[in-house]
Amino acid sequence: MKAAVWYGAKDIRIEEIATPEPGPGEVLVAVSRNGICGSDLHTYVGSDTGGASMHVPGVVLGHEFAGTVREVGEGVTDLAVGTAVAVAPMEWCGSCYSCHHAWPQMCRKLALYGGYRLPLHGGLAPFVAVSRRSCYPLPAGLGVIEAALAEPMAVAMHAVRRGPSTLGATVLVLGAGPIGLGVLQAVRAGGAQATIVSDLSPARRAAAATLGATAVVDPVSGDLRAAVRDLTRPGVDIVFDTTASSVAFNQGIALVRPRGTIVSVAGWQEQARVDMGRAMVNEIDIRYSMTYEPETDFPATLAMLAGGGFDTATMISDHIPLERLVDDGLEELLHHGDQHIKILVDPS
Ligand SMILES: [Zn+2]
Ligand SMILES: [Zn+2]
Repeated sequence: MKAAVWYGAKDIRIEEIATPEPGPGEVLVAVSRNGICGSDLHTYVGSDTGGASMHVPGVVLGHEFAGTVREVGEGVTDLAVGTAVAVAPMEWCGSCYSCHHAWPQMCRKLALYGGYRLPLHGGLAPFVAVSRRSCYPLPAGLGVIEAALAEPMAVAMHAVRRGPSTLGATVLVLGAGPIGLGVLQAVRAGGAQATIVSDLSPARRAAAATLGATAVVDPVSGDLRAAVRDLTRPGVDIVFDTTASSVAFNQGIALVRPRGTIVSVAGWQEQARVDMGRAMVNEIDIRYSMTYEPETDFPATLAMLAGGGFDTATMISDHIPLERLVDDGLEELLHHGDQHIKILVDPS
């Protein structure tokens, strides 16, 4: 089969590899779609802080995928061939402090399909072998193509769960990429009273408006402060930062109300410069969100996708074949990322 194999910075090859066979406790999934993640871009360009140094060369990339069970390995008795599944692409040790608390995303041996830390092949191939425990059957009403959004939407869902209740809250979302737009939809489903979304890209602001944001603002040419003041005089209750930008993060600190909450759900490339003085005088609560807890966030995310709480038509901007991964996927996102939301790759 043809797969997208990562060898190093700017060296991804679409090449022939053997079709995997499911080992004991594993299933073979025929991949319907695999989404391109911002972290894949860091890996592609070889950014160390983006995790490239943690990637295993010679491994198939891709961690946002869904598909259909093609074959089951020894000992798998509760998942039938032909079942459509979304995959939580995470493996963990099961015995460390975080694993004992059901927080596998913080496992000290955390590994991801797509080659993060261990040579676990990912979803940018027609077939991938994954553990049974990573597979979540799709609820009725959710297609196997749209289900490729489950992983990034689980990131958004987890970020919202890490914050305080959104019922009746005013919320500012910094950044309208896939995660920011996912957060927007999740807080609206959670009963937010008003939502303000800030992004530099006109296309992404338009998507936020389509998805029901109360106000959308260009953080440079627009007046974010005025937009917040119009809706909520003391500042918003909750800010979600998806940008990994110190400028944006400090805008969040300036615009959250006293004793409000900021949730950081961004992959930082460098150390942040945070306005600690201002955060301190307003007793702001800064929290962090790391991917998701599969057992909690995947079923909730899949139910929300099936129920239309995440608008897949707006979120999925492009479908491309595997052979075009580098030119129409990774390079396109590097140079024209503001014109796309989620690009899905069809590896079949
Ligand atoms: Zn990702
Ligand atoms: Zn562990």
